[in-house]
Amino acid sequence: MQMWLPLKILKLVKYFAVLFPINIKKNTMLKHWQDIGVYDQISSWEFVEFLYRIPEEYLDRFTIAWWGTRENAFTKGIIQHPKTCEKCRDRLMNFYVDFYCNWDSSYRKKILDEIWKTRCDCDK
Ligand SMILES: [Zn+2]
Repeated sequence: MQMWLPLKILKLVKYFAVLFPINIKKNTMLKHWQDIGVYDQISSWEFVEFLYRIPEEYLDRFTIAWWGTRENAFTKGIIQHPKTCEKCRDRLMNFYVDFYCNWDSSYRKKILDEIWKTRCDCDK
């Protein structure tokens, strides 16, 4: 999947923006579209790819949310999180925590390069 953020949009992010992967919930258009076969749950690697494509100079302007499979008052009703294989699950969750907790652009670029180089075929 080809994803990119136009530079014009990146420049509008003056403070910070929150990015989160698409989760499918009951009684939503996404669930309906999945039921009729025009949409499917994303791979967790697509979210990593999205982050990977953000130029380093903008990486400190983003935070991430709802990347895991945890349940809380706001995520109640989510029935499908981004898919991944058993082999990748812990590695991706550790990556997301590391990205979330460290705001330094060069550090984020380093961990994005590392995980992207060793991505799994399970996203295909
Ligand atoms: Zn995998």
